[in-house]
Amino acid sequence: MPVIDSLLIDGTWRPASAGATRDVVDPADATVLATVAEADAADADAAVAAARRAFDHGPWPGTPVADRCALLRRVAGLLQRDREEIALAESRDTGKTLAEGRVDVDDVTAAFRYFAALADSEPAGRVVDAGSADVHSVVVHEPVGVCALIAPWNYPLLQVSWKIAPALAAGNTFVAKPSELTPLTTVLLMRLLAEAGLPDGVANLVTGAGDPVGARLAAHADVDLVSFTGGLASGTTVAALAAPTVKKVALELGGKNPNVVFADACATDEGFDASVDQALNAAFVHSGQVCSAGSRLIVEESVRERFVTELAARAARIRLGRGTADGVECGPLVSAAQLAKTEAHVAAALAEGAVLRSGGARPAPGPNRLAGGFFYSPTVLDGCDRTMGVIREELFGPIVTVETFRTEDEAVALANDTRYGLAGAVFSADTARARRVAARLRHGTVWINDYHPYLPQAEWGGFGRSGTGRELGPAGLAEYRESKHVYENLRPAPVRWFAG
Ligand code: NAD
Repeated sequence: MPVIDSLLIDGTWRPASAGATRDVVDPADATVLATVAEADAADADAAVAAARRAFDHGPWPGTPVADRCALLRRVAGLLQRDREEIALAESRDTGKTLAEGRVDVDDVTAAFRYFAALADSEPAGRVVDAGSADVHSVVVHEPVGVCALIAPWNYPLLQVSWKIAPALAAGNTFVAKPSELTPLTTVLLMRLLAEAGLPDGVANLVTGAGDPVGARLAAHADVDLVSFTGGLASGTTVAALAAPTVKKVALELGGKNPNVVFADACATDEGFDASVDQALNAAFVHSGQVCSAGSRLIVEESVRERFVTELAARAARIRLGRGTADGVECGPLVSAAQLAKTEAHVAAALAEGAVLRSGGARPAPGPNRLAGGFFYSPTVLDGCDRTMGVIREELFGPIVTVETFRTEDEAVALANDTRYGLAGAVFSADTARARRVAARLRHGTVWINDYHPYLPQAEWGGFGRSGTGRELGPAGLAEYRESKHVYENLRPAPVRWFAG
């Protein structure tokens, strides 16, 4: 299999300077899907130097915003032109289904279009009333500078695009670092940026490990901003590495997301079906490897048995297999390590007293499910409580835990009983109650009678240890800008503060 020269530095694709490579593994059968360059700290330095030159001396930061936005729209068009190729690469790289890969490409296209429209529609500056006719005061936005954009493996194209689109709209240059597990669609995206006409050096790519490559970017004195999406442990390391140079830091970290179901949501057959179906989707889409996965089902005691029985039965019917195969609803986990973590979480929960209602093991091999693949059956763990590790830690696998409540206050207390605060949902037929509970949830996104949808025009991000900063929405563009106040004295005169 040919090696992909996957480092893009100053407009040139190249191998790693030390000649190192890394195999990218197909999670459906553990074979090698591709081999890419494995960068080291010297490659990270070269990429930062290119981005620095492009920012300090290149045309991009000074390019009129309308032209920058036109480029973003061209990228959106190219993403749609190559939709199948990119969706296939994402599916094979991450294990997610092809249908999910297509959704990702469409969502990314929407994000590029959204940021183009947002940046294009904004006034150049905000005139401030200085309280004097002799003063003209205006606040303008400028790009931050060189951005390091570090992304995880569960939504490789999507997460990096939520950073790249606003960074470019604002006039920054950047170095992207995808997860070492899933670099392929970021390579494809970078080719599209060049095809759309982005000047050399504006977009740079280094493929390699978190440490040393991501760590070098986070610590680098010539990097002005680091935007990181990943786990809590790596995120705190990144923040610490960035602190000495006082760069801007945005962290999008993990979640431990409650899905609160009131009995009244299940009072009718349709309501019951919708609530169970949404709980299934919340927990098991992309095998639960979703930062906002509804992995904590918090259900009212009076409907627990009926609800969990149906949820477990439906979980057992989810069709597992290679993400590109017809009829498959869920792919494998991304890696052997993620599979081992999932097995350990389930074993620990059972040892602590959880009751297995479905799954709890690797599935038997099948035609679309080869023995070498990292498959794990969707798992429902009943009888859980907050003393268990499985309730406190992010699981990031196909596991849903069940807790129960009797009162609204109890439901809210359970839902907020986490150090994270990324997302959560409430299901209720009582609109007033649903909104009341939603208002009390300390999470960055709250769904009412739904789970998972998000909008490019609405901010995404976490409370608590789910992170700092926001992606998407106007705040997602603001992350990549500095505000500058320009105060102009229209009648220059001595101040006479000093008499001498
Ligand atoms: P991870 O933290 O292991 O890795 C994320 C990225 O950081 C990778 O590119 C990795 O190489 C890099 N990295 C690792 N250590 C680093 C270091 N010391 N310095 C700099 N970079 C480093 O996370 P992951 O396993 O790839 O992704 C899963 C995690 O991402 C989950 O916790 C999930 O909740 C989170 N996530 C959050 C969001 C969100 O929007 N909040 C979205 C997707 C994923």
